[in-house]
Amino acid sequence: MDFSLTKEQLMLLDSLRDMARREKFKELAVEIDRTGEFPHHLMGKYAEMGLLGMTLSPEYGGEGQSALTAILAIEALARYSPMIAAPLFESNVGPVRVIDMFGTPQQKAAIIPGVCKGENSVSVCMTEPEVGSDLTSLKTTVEDKGDHLLLNGRKSFITGGGHASHYLVYCRFGEKPGYRAIGAVIAEKGMEGFSFGKQEEYMGLRGMPSCDLFFDNVKIPKENLVIDKGQFGNLMMTFDIERCGNAAMCLGVAGGAMEAAKNYALQREAFGRSICEFQAIQFMVAEMAMKLDAAKLLVYRAACGAGQGLPSVYEASLGKCYANEMVKEVTDMAMQIFGGYGYSKEFPLERMLRDSRAWSVAGGTLQMLKVTVASMIFGRRFDQRK
Ligand SMILES: Cc1cc2nc3c(=O)[nH]c(=O)nc-3n(C[C@H](O)[C@H](O)[C@H](O)COP(=O)(O)OP(=O)(O)OC[C@H]3O[C@@H](n4cnc5c(N)ncnc54)[C@H](O)[C@@H]3O)c2cc1C
Repeated sequence: MDFSLTKEQLMLLDSLRDMARREKFKELAVEIDRTGEFPHHLMGKYAEMGLLGMTLSPEYGGEGQSALTAILAIEALARYSPMIAAPLFESNVGPVRVIDMFGTPQQKAAIIPGVCKGENSVSVCMTEPEVGSDLTSLKTTVEDKGDHLLLNGRKSFITGGGHASHYLVYCRFGEKPGYRAIGAVIAEKGMEGFSFGKQEEYMGLRGMPSCDLFFDNVKIPKENLVIDKGQFGNLMMTFDIERCGNAAMCLGVAGGAMEAAKNYALQREAFGRSICEFQAIQFMVAEMAMKLDAAKLLVYRAACGAGQGLPSVYEASLGKCYANEMVKEVTDMAMQIFGGYGYSKEFPLERMLRDSRAWSVAGGTLQMLKVTVASMIFGRRFDQRK
């Protein structure tokens, strides 16, 4: 087992640290949270540095890099803010990977080069107002009309909603219930009958575009069919790499909180001493380090196992579950170390704590993933309907 990073990965992390200083990412994180504005100005810079689509196929403008390299980069940027890391998440571990793996050459040529230049982005559209965890009950339908497909339905909580250029919409082919009738098509922003709801106001992750999508008799060209009915397994398989990305966001947020708490404990005094001299503070910091490092090992293992492809479901699920719980605990302890200042908006901890809360719901809830982990341990499927 080799825990060392390659020279190229270490150089990438150095260049991201330089960029963070140059672009004042700590200050930018505060500004994004205050204004709720997504940092669009970073897209061109990220594209120039080759950070967008670095895991995608080289023949379409990507760099064919490993999942681990992308995970390390997402983590490094999420230390400042998940919004600063979001373009790397979307373009390297997001639904564009489904198109890279299962799309037609025409779909890849139409979408991937633009993703690598920061001009296109792809959102994943599974959740509906009445269907989240119970995904195989989704109601959005697509009908074959001979020369085109007709899409009808509504999606909820769609990250990138209103801003992304392309939407990978999970939908039901015909009226048949169950997962066998589910596939996915690409809807493009601007198509007739495709509209957006109001932007969500979340507790944290301010600046992240998100809204409901409405499909009212949207004519989808047949060339936009990505996953036909009967191939639901392919759709869910690619989602495991997105789960590693979700976990990398947790590593980043927790790492940022840990660093802030350590620095604060060194300079804050009580009873005439630095608070880092109190054992209660030392134990909290040691516990934070234990949990963060344990999460890193699980997430990096899943990413290493993925190579340039996909991780194992078991490893990705364990990594996401543990990182989702870890980030809530670590940001909470960091906030405690800041005392009253931790609760104040003048300091970063309350933002980090708010940003820590989303990940155990987004990308599949902690509870549903634990069911997946348990079913793999017991070697049998637990049907949630019976
Ligand atoms: C920040 C954020 C970003 C998101 N981005 C996207 C996106 O880009 N695209 C997208 O499609 N969706 C997105 N979502 C939606 C997300 O995937 C769903 O919220 C999630 O899958 C849960 O679905 P739900 O909200 O309908 O909860 P429900 O499924 O109604 O679950 C409610 C509660 O019941 C629990 N529960 C349900 N069934 C079981 C069971 N069988 N066993 C044990 N517990 C159970 C759940 O764990 C949860 O705690 C996002 C959500 C958030 C918060």
